[in-house]
Amino acid sequence: MSTYIRKEIFDSSQTLIIKIGSNVLTRGDDSLDLEIIQQLARQIDALISTGRRVVVVSSGAVAAGIGILGLTEKPQSLPELQASAAAGQPHLMSAWGDALRQSGHQVGQILLTMNDFRSRRRYLNVRNTIRTLLSFGIVPIINENDSVSIEEIALGDNDQLASMIAALVPKPLLVILSGIDGLYDGSPASENSKLISIVARPDDSLQKNVSNEQSSRGRGGMAAKLRAILNATTTGESVILANGRSVDVLEKVSRGEDVGTLFVANRTTIPAWKKWIGYTVPPEGKLVLDDGATTAVIQNGKSLLAVGIREVHGEFEQGASVQIVSPSSTVIGRGLVNYSSEDIRRIIGLKSDRIQEVLGHVPYGEVIHRDNLVVTD
Ligand code: GLU
Repeated sequence: MSTYIRKEIFDSSQTLIIKIGSNVLTRGDDSLDLEIIQQLARQIDALISTGRRVVVVSSGAVAAGIGILGLTEKPQSLPELQASAAAGQPHLMSAWGDALRQSGHQVGQILLTMNDFRSRRRYLNVRNTIRTLLSFGIVPIINENDSVSIEEIALGDNDQLASMIAALVPKPLLVILSGIDGLYDGSPASENSKLISIVARPDDSLQKNVSNEQSSRGRGGMAAKLRAILNATTTGESVILANGRSVDVLEKVSRGEDVGTLFVANRTTIPAWKKWIGYTVPPEGKLVLDDGATTAVIQNGKSLLAVGIREVHGEFEQGASVQIVSPSSTVIGRGLVNYSSEDIRRIIGLKSDRIQEVLGHVPYGEVIHRDNLVVTD
């Protein structure tokens, strides 16, 4: 049964996003493990020969940079982390380039920060670059642009980055390779816990199976991984979490073998525009709705009008993404606003025909048009 579902999911995928963690790619002394990179490159070649396209999201720049800077452990300060990433990234790229060229594949490097996902223009640009590289048969190797990424524009971890990349390629299957075998049905520390082969309906209740501990070299950790996995399954992408050091792991994935944990997508994929609004661009403010508007938005798919808004939180411009919540603070979804926070504060609770009187103009009848509104709950 499990093999059947796994094979079906692999066969219907067109683009594999392979995210590989620092713990897989580096040795104990923080140098890159060239042997494992070569093994993975050979498996990636085998995946490409099944007719699929492959995007690699590779961590390991910071870890590889530690030894180059002459440090003995992962630095704590931001400038040192950034220097490590800057020194390690070229090594990481040349390791991938050398390994993949041996099987006849060229690579292209893309380094991203959160800003590349916030702006619609930059987001489309990233999408075009990835798709164009793939159409030339080049393997994109993606990492966070750690050497310039500061808190406000940090993506956080590469699991998150990989789930965002999965949202912008055709028919994706996300494979997260880390130092652990998959998701366990209890605490990973307990001997009685067993590896779960398939999670048919991934949801937040899985958080109880993971600890918040961070990985020693990367930034993620299991809780962050699970958040990224749930982001992907919610927008229609299935995910396989497996141990990157287990023999022939990617080939096993392609044969539908029981490896790691498969998280089955919760729904059929949603349109790219709605994915971007609902799950990618981070909200800059919050609107609290009244009961009537909550029902109209959730059940009837209506636009959000000024009359249905009770509170405005945050400062934002027209076009910003905001979170919309019910009177009891349950998150309903996200949308792009037609008015700035300043204007919404002036028209809150008003019927649309009074907007002219207050603002002197009515550029839009709705505060959020339903085409720009995504119910995420
Ligand atoms: N971008 C970081 C690196 O290349 C890793 C981030 C992560 O571990 O998720 O070292």
